[in-house]
Amino acid sequence: MAEHHAPALDPHDPRLVEVNDLSDIFSELEGTAVADLLRWHNLPESRGSMPATTARARLLVSMCMDHRADLVIPNEFAYVLRSAGGTLRDSDFEVQYAIAVGGVTEIALLAHTDCGMVGVSGKRAKFVEGLVARGGCTADFANNEFDRFSTLYEQQDVVAFVIQECRRLEAMLPSLRAIPLLYRVADDKLLQIRTTP
Ligand SMILES: [Zn+2]
Repeated sequence: MAEHHAPALDPHDPRLVEVNDLSDIFSELEGTAVADLLRWHNLPESRGSMPATTARARLLVSMCMDHRADLVIPNEFAYVLRSAGGTLRDSDFEVQYAIAVGGVTEIALLAHTDCGMVGVSGKRAKFVEGLVARGGCTADFANNEFDRFSTLYEQQDVVAFVIQECRRLEAMLPSLRAIPLLYRVADDKLLQIRTTP
């Protein structure tokens, strides 16, 4: 079966805004945990203000399980949920728990460049071959599992996806601040996302 490749994210996508200086951080994020995440993660010179620990969680982060993405944050700063493609589709209770019991009021939803879930439904041959070789199952089982899950995890536009997830969460929990970001794997930087044209 032919494998197809989904288009890579355009590095000049007008929705993306880099953070190379404190003044680049969106003004509406002032005082938020996400603003601290952006400066500590992106700006090594501002890590002097990064405490060793924050003693309580200030943020919930949802991000892909991808092995190339890792955050520079203090100990105890954030609850972190990881999943294939960073979807929270089956994680409403985790989100609710982090807010209700964990005390957080903000969630950062991280898309990332070069995500394996973009075009995943075109990766059947590789999935079946790999699961048979390293999972030890039959090709029938691997094909059935691929049919069961691949379309659920399929993504095309990772930036549009996190914007839409933020809107869904804010509709469910109107006091929650949900902020979409992009993790750029090539240089491990976080980028802001404009949600209005
Ligand atoms: Zn991914």
